Formats: sequence, structure tokens, C-alpha cells
Amino acid sequence: MNMPKLFTDLADGVVACLPSRFRPGRMPYAFFFVALIIGVLLGYSLYPALPVFRWMYLIMVVFLVALLAAFQKGLPLPWAVNLGTSIGTLLLIVLVWFTGGIYSRNIAWLMILPLTPLYMVSWRAGAAWYVAMLLVISGFGLGSYMQWLPAYDVQQFRVGQAYTTYSILTMVMIVVPMIYDRMYVNALRVIRAYQQELETKRLELEHALRMREHFIGIVSHELRTPMNAIVGFNALLLSRVQDRPEAVKALQHTGRAADHLMTVINDILDYSQLQAGQLMVQRETFVLRDVALHAFELFLSRVRGTSLDYRIEQDDALPTWVSTDRHRLMQVLVNLLGNALKFTHQGSVVLRVQWENPGVLFSVQDTGIGIPKEQQDRIFRRFAQADANIQARYGGNGLGLAISRQLVELLGGEMGFESAPGQGSRFWFRLSLPACESPERALQAEQTPGPTQTAQMAWRFLVADDHPINRLLVKQVLKNAWPNAQVLEAVNGQQALDLLVQSSVDLVLMDMVMPEMDGIEATRRLRQNEAWRTLPVMGLTANVNPVDLETFRQAGLNTVMLKPFEPVQLCNRVEQLLLQRL
Ligand code: ADP
Repeated sequence: MNMPKLFTDLADGVVACLPSRFRPGRMPYAFFFVALIIGVLLGYSLYPALPVFRWMYLIMVVFLVALLAAFQKGLPLPWAVNLGTSIGTLLLIVLVWFTGGIYSRNIAWLMILPLTPLYMVSWRAGAAWYVAMLLVISGFGLGSYMQWLPAYDVQQFRVGQAYTTYSILTMVMIVVPMIYDRMYVNALRVIRAYQQELETKRLELEHALRMREHFIGIVSHELRTPMNAIVGFNALLLSRVQDRPEAVKALQHTGRAADHLMTVINDILDYSQLQAGQLMVQRETFVLRDVALHAFELFLSRVRGTSLDYRIEQDDALPTWVSTDRHRLMQVLVNLLGNALKFTHQGSVVLRVQWENPGVLFSVQDTGIGIPKEQQDRIFRRFAQADANIQARYGGNGLGLAISRQLVELLGGEMGFESAPGQGSRFWFRLSLPACESPERALQAEQTPGPTQTAQMAWRFLVADDHPINRLLVKQVLKNAWPNAQVLEAVNGQQALDLLVQSSVDLVLMDMVMPEMDGIEATRRLRQNEAWRTLPVMGLTANVNPVDLETFRQAGLNTVMLKPFEPVQLCNRVEQLLLQRL
């Protein structure tokens, strides 16, 4: 049993039983102090030193009880304390007078009396009462010396000693609490100053953190915009030089380098969003096996030509449809598979997806270099790698696992691993993925190979983007897929609205950040016009902040495409929107 807790519970229970004005702050102590005095006085009244004192004790008891009652009825605290102390002093003066003057043990009570005003009213009231007591004690010193007291065996030569003892003790009793009070006030001042300093530091830190998020957001936006042109034109060029193997090879190199750069940018952005708690889960219903297979197949080209046994094993009992953040699940799988392949030179890498009713256990087992025991607890830390050689030999930024684990936790799961140096590792994560109903429209648009049904029609597109290279890229992509289409261009939202008035358009591709009038405002205005209420508008943005994306959607966009985009994906989305117009 927890004794301190039992004790405080008991004390709380007792305090709750006190009359209301005696409950807060120090009042319970005052109440019990007075109650104790009443008890002592009642005890004394049974065996008084002189019979006449009995009545004095009893009158004092009645007075103290009346004082308690008056306080409960509303008598101000300083009044109650000063009244009580005054009556106590009078009683003690009589007692001391008849019980030995300066030698009386009752002088000790006189010394204690000022403690009540000191603690209950103020240190000034306490000091005033101490001075009064010193005067009273001095009076007794004089009275005893002059032998004015009732017949009592007074030794005059001891009076000085007794007087000095009591005076010094009384002084000590006043000075010591005052010194402590000063020390306490000083310590409090220092603590307050520290607190203030800490608070300022906290505000500065929060500001710095916000600035960092802002900075990372801007940098990633600025990096994504040119990456859009690089990735896009690379893909376009690749489709045109299929007959020249040298050129294909070179373009595949630039493509891979661009992909790698995108991974780094995305990792840093994801990590900063995870830290800031901004990353949101975007649930969708999808076929679990397809996503696992898709992640697995992404690395097929890498293992082709090697002796690695690279395979996937999926339980028959797995549910077909599940609901979670498909993109994030894919990201974690890709990260684990990428690591396993990076650190495995021979043997096998196996992706297993097992049904653990109602959860799913994903695991990636390899026979690679493994991780030494002493380094195992640091690999989930950000920017941490097992040892310094890893960066030199294998590259990487040490963010992948830190992000993956946080993502799995965000999806409500857990992640772990087992590893032995030289034998291999097994990274796993478990997600609660109960089977769910198949959605009515399970169109996996991203996976179809570009537009087919609308390709020959003479569509009219409007591309609004302030970057000429981005406009050129979108235009090329559209013209490639829809050779008979006409593409109008605008450099800002206002120009896009003007063009819409002049000529009829089938679909708008709108950049979100533009000077003068941005894509959000332009879309909002466009939706206010009856004629364009159903006109398909696709947003294009390098901003991946989920809060901003939500604002874009609310402005009235049909869909948002993140930059950099794969040309095929852009075309598939455009076709989907066009099909709705047929
Ligand atoms: P990166 O791979 O970019 O270095 P990660 O966070 O993905 O960053 O991994 C951190 C470290 O964990 C790696 O540098 C490596 O030392 C270790 N590690 C991760 N996966 C494996 C694996 N399958 N086999 C051996 N070591 C691994």
C-alpha cells in the first residue's frame, strides 16, 4: 500500500469535513492549532496550579470557540488572529505573574504566541507582536527583580540570567523565520527569472521550428518545380529515342538520378512534416495484394542479371480489399525492400505478407550483411546508419527507417527487426487491416497505360502556369497523347479566366502558385460562373502540405496532381476527366 498517498488521502478527507472558511490554504493548520490550544486549556482546567485559574482556562476556551465561530461567520482573518493573540497574552500575563514571573515556564507560551500573527497575517504583524512580547518579558524581569510579584521565592541575582535567556530566545524565534522568509523570497525571485528565461527560450525555439518548417516547405517546393521539368522531359525524351540504345542508357541514368534526388527531397519533407505532426493519413480502399506486388515489382529490373533469389510470398487467406493509406504503405515497403537489396549481395530477399486475423504482418527477410548487436538500437534514429562505413560504401541518408517506423505508427501499427551480422536481417511491421467491402468504382487509373478512348478527339486544353518550361512540358505531354488537341496557355489565373471567356475549353490544368492571381483564386472565381461550374479543372502543384492540398480541393478542383508527375499518370487522370464529358 502506498503510505504517503494514504496519508494525503486521509488528510484531504479530514480537511473536507472542516467548516468552509477553514478549508483553503493554511487555514486547516490554524484550525488545528486553535483546537490543540483548546485541548491543552481544558486539560489544565482539570489540574490548575491555583483553583482560580480553572475559571480563567474555561473562559479562554469559551472565547476561542466563539472566535472560531465568528471567523466562520465572516470575521476578517487579521481581526480574529489579533483578538486571539491579545486575549492569550492577557491570560498569560496573569499566569506568569502568579507562577514565578521571569522564572515561570509559562513565558514559553508568550514566546510562541507571535508565531500565529507571523504566519497567518504578515511578517509585520508577527514582528509587532514579538516586540510587544519582549516588552512584556522585560516587565516581568523588572517585576521579579523588584520583588513586586506575589510571595514567591525570587533569587534576584538570577533574574538577569533568566531575562537574557528568554529575550535572546524570543529574538531567535523572530529572526530565524524572517531569515528563512527572505531566503525563500530570494530563491523564488531567482526561479522566476529562470522561468522567464526558459519561457523566452521556448518561444524562440517554437519560432525557429516554425521557420524551419516554413523553410523546408519553401525549399522543397522550389526543388520540386525544376524537378518537374527534369523528370517530365526525361520521360518524354526516353519515349522518343527507343531506337537508340546509347541514348536510352544515358536517359535511364538521368532518370535514376532524378528519382534518387526526389527520394531525398521527399524524405526530408516527410520527416519534417512527421516531426511537426502535419502528416495526415489519407485512407483509401485498395487491393492489398496488388500494392505489395507493385512494391515488389519496382525492384525487378534491379535484380535482373544478378544471382539473388528475389521473391514475394503472399498468404492465400489475405483479405482482398483493405483500407489504409496506400501511398504510405507503399513507401514503407519500398524502403524496406530497397534497404534489403542494397545490403544483400548474395542469397535471397523475400517479401512476405501474412494474414494474422485481423492484422497483416509484412516482413522483408534478407541474407545480407546484417547489423551488429551494438549498432542495432540506433538505426531507427534520424540520420543514423549502422556505422560510418555504410555511408561511404552504400550511400543513403539514414532517414528511411526513422520515417518508415513513424509512418507505420501513424497507420496504427508497429515495426521491428531481427538481425545477425553476416547472416542477414528481417524487418517487419504489423498493421491492423481488417477486410473491407470493395468500393463501387475500383478504377486503378494510375496503372492503365495512357489514354486510349479519347486519344483521337480534338480537345481543347488550357494550361495556366507561370513557368514557361512547365507549360512547355505539359503541352508536350498533352500533344503526345492527344495529337489533335489544341493547347492554350496562360501565365496567371487572370489570363486563364480571360481566355476562358474568349474560347471554349474542355479541361483546365491549373498551377496553384502564380503571380497576380493564383490557381486557387482563379478556380474559385471560375466556379462562381454558371457556365464553368462543371468544367474539369486539374490542379498542379509542387506543394505537398496536406493542409494546403485540402484548401486547393475546397476551391473547386476536380483533382490535384503533384509535381513532379509521371507523364503517363497525368494523361490517365486527364482521360478520366475527359471521359466524364463524353
Ligand atoms: P539509409 O538506408 O538511407 O542509410 P535507413 O534509415 O533506411 O537509411 O537505414 C539506416 C541504417 O540501417 C542503414 O544505413 C544500415 O546501416 C541499416 N540497415 C537498414 N536495413 C538494413 C538491412 N536490410 N541490412 C543491413 N543493414 C540495414
